[in-house]
Amino acid sequence: MITVRLKKGCKLNIAGKPALETEVLAKPSHVALVPERIPFIKPRLKVRVGDRVKIGSPVFEDKRNPEIKFLSPGGGEIDVINFGPRRVIREIVIRVDKKEESVRFKPLTDQELETTQRDDLVRAMTDGGIWPFIKSFPFRDITDPQGRAPGIFINLGDSEPFQPRPEVYLQGAAELFEFGVRILRKLVEKVYVARRPGDSSIINSLNHLITHTCHGDYPVDDPGVMLYHSKKSSEENGSWYIDGQDVLHLARFFKTGLYPIERIMVLAGSQAHESKHFQTRAGVPLTELAQWHKYKTSGVRFVAGGLFRGYTGAKNSYMGFYENSLTLITQGDNEEAFGFIRPGYGKPSSSKTFLSCFNTSELALNCGLHGELRACINCGYCAQVCPVDILPQFTYKSVIADEIEESLAHGLLDCAECGLCTYVCPSKIELCARFKQAKAAYYKELV
Ligand code: SF4
Ligand code: SF4
Repeated sequence: MITVRLKKGCKLNIAGKPALETEVLAKPSHVALVPERIPFIKPRLKVRVGDRVKIGSPVFEDKRNPEIKFLSPGGGEIDVINFGPRRVIREIVIRVDKKEESVRFKPLTDQELETTQRDDLVRAMTDGGIWPFIKSFPFRDITDPQGRAPGIFINLGDSEPFQPRPEVYLQGAAELFEFGVRILRKLVEKVYVARRPGDSSIINSLNHLITHTCHGDYPVDDPGVMLYHSKKSSEENGSWYIDGQDVLHLARFFKTGLYPIERIMVLAGSQAHESKHFQTRAGVPLTELAQWHKYKTSGVRFVAGGLFRGYTGAKNSYMGFYENSLTLITQGDNEEAFGFIRPGYGKPSSSKTFLSCFNTSELALNCGLHGELRACINCGYCAQVCPVDILPQFTYKSVIADEIEESLAHGLLDCAECGLCTYVCPSKIELCARFKQAKAAYYKELV
């Protein structure tokens, strides 16, 4: 058992954490795939408007590698395909039939799994549209089906408080999870599963699978952070990772022979009227998850995919392939009257600038920059929280100067894309976004 003790990171005291209570959402009339929010892929459409699809029919493939396919999360008719600037495919929307049909894939019993060859398993996963759940370091792109890795990290839960909790999605599914881990063991030599002390009894029941114990604050259980603190050789830098809930999708696919569309998602944030878990399906409309028809208010930003790593989604958009959480927070771009003399007892801040440093209650976050764009003041707060020991302020300077070699020397590729440096920065510099862009640009040069 490896123990990871994260001394940096950040205790997040932000209002709107989802309760463990779970509500079942009604079947939506439309679902969608959102290729625009899948990093790196170049989608090639396999359908046109008006085509009939079943759950599990191919909708698009990745031009870079046509083995990587994305399947329909609904059975019905392709209602609309939305394009963005330069014909970027934004969304493929499916009008869902009352009685949906599903494509049938070959299921696998426990015994058959033992005798199945690795290549056959990979082919079944690519044909079944579940291969994209596996991503690889350091660029966090979808793994090459022909590639190999020394190990795979399973992200069981997330110390970000706005993601589905493992004790909810693992409820009654511990055996299924174990089956998923056995599938992964056929692909890679080592499967790593991490837990935090004090986790629930469901996670205790999986103790025999646990390889890492993580102590510390967000983002201690991020697979990139676990890798950084436990790797013994540079070869491990090419490890793979998968989210805990996606292990269940993998297992369900092979158990049932059906493309898995069930999802546990959360609605969170200070502007969500009911911050809790929802049992719903892939590609659900943001407004349905937010129950917008009941509570509509103005000045709210929809962040799909997690407060620290997600994307701002248009209200009429849909949950993307990797997104299981929707956070609603205020825009916060209004000027505060006499803001300069207010003590800021209710303003969340990592620095000691406001009186909120004495306030232990959860505080509502907003998206306001609190002023104009500002230069780095070399306060060093970003370096104090960075979980992988990068000095973000210096890395940022080399990134904006296009000094890629210097950025790499600063540890750019170790960046876990956790967003903490941006969160704590008093100048509100978009450090994490720039690091992601720089990593992506370097990756494009390599491939
Ligand atoms: S550089 Fe920023 S985004 Fe990257 S790991 Fe460090 S704190 Fe997180
Ligand atoms: S937190 Fe922001 S202002 Fe402070 S050193 Fe880092 S980048 Fe500069």
